[in-house]
Amino acid sequence: MTDDIEAREEGWRRQTRLVRGGTRRSQFGETSEAMFLASGFAYDSPEIAAARFKGEDDGFIYSRYGNPTVAMFERRMALLEDAETCFATATGMAAVFTALICQLRAGDHMVSSRVLFGSCQYIIAEILPRYGIETTFVDGPDLDQWRAAVRPGTKCVFFETPANPTTELIDVAAVAEIAHSAGARVVLDNVFATPLLQRSLDLGADITVYSTTKHIDGQGRCLGGAILGPQAFYTDELMPFMRHTGPSMSPFNAWVMLKGLETLEVRLARMCDNALALARFLEDQDAVRRVLHPNLASHPQHDLAARQMTHGGTIVAFDLPGGQEAAFRFLRALELIDISNNLGDAKSLITHPTTTTHQRFKPEERAAAGIGDGMLRLSAGLEDIEDLKEDLARGLAAL
Ligand SMILES: *Cc1c(COP(=O)(O)O)cnc(C)c1O
Repeated sequence: MTDDIEAREEGWRRQTRLVRGGTRRSQFGETSEAMFLASGFAYDSPEIAAARFKGEDDGFIYSRYGNPTVAMFERRMALLEDAETCFATATGMAAVFTALICQLRAGDHMVSSRVLFGSCQYIIAEILPRYGIETTFVDGPDLDQWRAAVRPGTKCVFFETPANPTTELIDVAAVAEIAHSAGARVVLDNVFATPLLQRSLDLGADITVYSTTKHIDGQGRCLGGAILGPQAFYTDELMPFMRHTGPSMSPFNAWVMLKGLETLEVRLARMCDNALALARFLEDQDAVRRVLHPNLASHPQHDLAARQMTHGGTIVAFDLPGGQEAAFRFLRALELIDISNNLGDAKSLITHPTTTTHQRFKPEERAAAGIGDGMLRLSAGLEDIEDLKEDLARGLAAL
């Protein structure tokens, strides 16, 4: 029965997978996925309990290990990238940290791109070294730096593409080739692209992590994360680690994420259109120094975006020549777009990375990452494009 469902799901195209993938109905035949708010599960006999703990019976044991609602979400996520396995986590950062720490040990080496979300950078630059895991940071687009940085003992490489906040792109296939020839695994944070705009595993990543808080919920309700990867990684490294350390997603949040996936493709299409229209609008303004969106011809990696993404995404970064003072003046004048560090939301959101998401970076690290004091990161939402342009015009008028 289960195998029939799985085979049928694998024959579905993407939008059908987004709506129906992973759904397992209870005896009541509910149309919406059921929310199993249960911490544990009862066994019909002690023999069944023993078999489950031995892994000889695949029923549920305890929601720290797995839960029916969470399993529906994990299956739907895995189907989106044709991944062998998915593990859903409480937050995106739990996904990043778990995916790395479950496979690393003292003495291992990592290579990472320099432009990262602030908390990703904190894990790699501050936490992992305490446990004897050293990382070499490189300029992600420069393949020679990746080639020079990998060495015997390099266990994984980590990067975001497009990266937070500058939308810098990294050639996934090329970095994967360098990593694999050195015997290292590729762990890719695919948050900005989502599973719909960039097929990270097909491009060569071994393990992909998501903050499902972003576009997948996409409506500002719940935190969540996901780790996608091969069965052997899940069984040998991820599962033993997660079972005993507990980064798992709650069933309520999994239910919200299932609902989010149902509408992801239509929401994303509008948000991508809005982002590109706003990027073009900003590019026409004399008061704006530089606009970064992967689909603009002026983006340094415009050709790479066309090769590895189906659309450049929902985020636009732009620089105001007057530094932090100009950026703050711009933000104070907005009446519609919210000042918020979240992204991928139905509501358009804007943040000043230097004083929020990337305030922990040392000034020289921000400079090396191309994050200027006048940079703003805009996440395009679902509002009417004319209202959004009018709001940006208010910000510009205040300069
Ligand atoms: C937001 C974000 C995360 C962290 O996700 P949370 O759900 O907030 O923990 C990780 N990586 C990137 C690129 C992000 O934008």
